[in-house]
Amino acid sequence: MNRAIQIEKIKSGLLWDIFVIGGGATGLGIAVDAASRGYSVALAEKTDFAKGTSGRSTKLVHGGVRYLAQGNVKLVMEALKERAILLKNAPHITKIQTFIVPAYSWWDMFFYGVGLSVYNLLAGKHKLEGVKWLSATDTINQLPQLNKTGLKGGISYCDGQFDDARLAINLAQTATDHGASVVNHVEVVNLIVEGKKIAGVVLKDEVSGESFSVMAKVVINATGVFADQIMSLEDKSSRKMISPSQGIHLVVDKQFFTGNSALMVPKTSDGRVLFIVPWHHQLVIGTTDTKVNNISEEPVALEEEINFLLSHFNKFSTKPIALKDVKSAFAGLRPLIKSSNISATSLLSREHTIVISAGGLLTIAGGKWTTYRKMAKDAIQNAIFIGKLEKRECVTENLEIHGYAKELSVLDVYAAYGSDKVLLMALIEENPVLSEKIHPNYPYTKVQIVWAVKEEMAISLEDVLSRRVRLLIEDARAAVEAAPLVAEIMANILGKNQDWINLECEQFEKIASTYILNA
Ligand SMILES: Cc1cc2nc3c(=O)[nH]c(=O)nc-3n(C[C@H](O)[C@H](O)[C@H](O)COP(=O)(O)OP(=O)(O)OC[C@H]3O[C@@H](n4cnc5c(N)ncnc54)[C@H](O)[C@@H]3O)c2cc1C
Repeated sequence: MNRAIQIEKIKSGLLWDIFVIGGGATGLGIAVDAASRGYSVALAEKTDFAKGTSGRSTKLVHGGVRYLAQGNVKLVMEALKERAILLKNAPHITKIQTFIVPAYSWWDMFFYGVGLSVYNLLAGKHKLEGVKWLSATDTINQLPQLNKTGLKGGISYCDGQFDDARLAINLAQTATDHGASVVNHVEVVNLIVEGKKIAGVVLKDEVSGESFSVMAKVVINATGVFADQIMSLEDKSSRKMISPSQGIHLVVDKQFFTGNSALMVPKTSDGRVLFIVPWHHQLVIGTTDTKVNNISEEPVALEEEINFLLSHFNKFSTKPIALKDVKSAFAGLRPLIKSSNISATSLLSREHTIVISAGGLLTIAGGKWTTYRKMAKDAIQNAIFIGKLEKRECVTENLEIHGYAKELSVLDVYAAYGSDKVLLMALIEENPVLSEKIHPNYPYTKVQIVWAVKEEMAISLEDVLSRRVRLLIEDARAAVEAAPLVAEIMANILGKNQDWINLECEQFEKIASTYILNA
């Protein structure tokens, strides 16, 4: 994916069938769906692919056990079907993960055992390995640091896990493989209205500063928590549909909760869900559900959210953590759909909503990463109708995601590149220095930086260290330490000077400082 070529294509003066605003899971999924049906489609992302909510999830491909408890069987069944489709179409970037729900009373053992068996059954032919009822000893064997006091046993079940930002990059690649034009760091700053109909968008390239207009038969607003802002470009008085809810995660070393299984607590003492999940080289602990009013590109974990996760982790683990043990704290905003009669965001629906404005702007928001494909399909079905596009069937159920490859070892640092791995290996063969690490404690290497800039449209240090390799999410201090070397490699490719390196490092450190918790 070459950014300059993509921008030229977008500017080419064509009347696009579909223009997508937003390069998160929803927008990228729509670009893949549209392009693979043969429609002409362009997409602009104002920052970087998955810089918004889509790079800040719990990284689970799941039906959502919690939604089952809320009685939302339809959402769970739909998500379980989508889980199976994603695991099938992107095996290089997804995996099956075992979870254990601990039971500290016989009632919990029965209740969660039955509940998770129903969850598994709802997957029908898509079900993963069955639910197991574990004794207290078996539970501790699998999760040695789990608090034993009063433990009666545990229920184990399987769900999916993935790398969210890497999947987003793969979706952008899949879209371009099928002829779409997608670009990052280009913002939609206005809508073009012709005879009361939305006929296109005005774009601003954040790198060159240049503005240009693009015409399209249908414009789709897939901007997550920013959806209301785009809708207000058409109608300043449009009703707000998004109720943003913040969720944070703390990342700590795996030694604090060893074992290969993840822990899932369906209901903490204050009614929330707690996950402790091994991910890459660390443990991800999450999450929270905090109603927020401020919509920011860089949401920051609040003190009360951090304390909630620390205290709950320490309740379930015999190896307690403190602020100093947190390697990274990241926050994301759920684009939940407002409901006039519900005040707690944790009770708001996780289903997606499509709204079509008077001028024909199609806004899609809500949903989950897991259901991105179904959301995209629904959006395009509506777009066909609005844009009077020739009807074509959706093909994404059996569409391989870019990088598709089976049987790659999860221990292999290059596994996430799937079928592209051979191309990275060829670069190393040409220049063996590229196999050197960018930080002594992590397996990430220089070739990944070169690949990110040349092939994955990364243009800022943060694009690389947060989403092409996940060092900022895994260990923010290590990411800051690696920054000067990574910036130098990038500068050599992009033809930038020392001033650029200094500025990028400075800006990156500023962002990274919000991921670092000071004791
Ligand atoms: C804490 C948390 C945990 C979660 N965990 C899971 C999970 O484990 N599994 C799961 O399935 N789901 C999970 N989700 C839900 C999932 O992450 C979201 O539903 C999904 O990422 C939303 O994607 P999106 O594309 O709609 O929004 P975003 O990812 O926010 O994408 C919208 C994009 O639009 C861009 N944009 C905004 N304005 C403009 C403009 N003017 N021009 C161009 N671009 C613009 C933004 O920069 C942004 O990148 C979680 C969510 C949160 C918050």
